[in-house]
Amino acid sequence: MINTTGKIVKTDAEWRAQLTGLQFRVTRKHGTEQAFTGEYWNTKVAGTYACICCGQVLFDSKTKYDSGTGWPSFYAPVGEGAVAYKEDRSFFMRRTEVLCSKCDAHLGHVFPDGPAPTGKRFCMNSASLKLMPSKDGGDDLGVVSDPT
Ligand SMILES: [Zn+2]
Repeated sequence: MINTTGKIVKTDAEWRAQLTGLQFRVTRKHGTEQAFTGEYWNTKVAGTYACICCGQVLFDSKTKYDSGTGWPSFYAPVGEGAVAYKEDRSFFMRRTEVLCSKCDAHLGHVFPDGPAPTGKRFCMNSASLKLMPSKDGGDDLGVVSDPT
């Protein structure tokens, strides 16, 4: 269901039906996967990372870097509108939570100790993301044409 703000809103039961247990815990219940266990922390495949819940493109592999934390880390989202930010005071820490701007999926946190050019470290959960490898291989589908 898409409401009037363009956001995707679903019930827990609906999300549960669509996601694995871990994906549900992380994205809908603000969980964190264990470091060095996620699917993408060490992935170097070129492509884009989309929201596991709604498919909105969130990060480009070009901004992914090895932070040594065991979580996939990026220095910038694909665009400022792709993610939303929220202050998170849980666990007696003050952190900035990063959410998918379209469906409010919890993605991870952003910290001010990343590399140039942004100086930011988007510390994400693999469970929140789906990698869509780029098709630079040169198959015929690469030509953009709109038959309508
Ligand atoms: Zn989303």
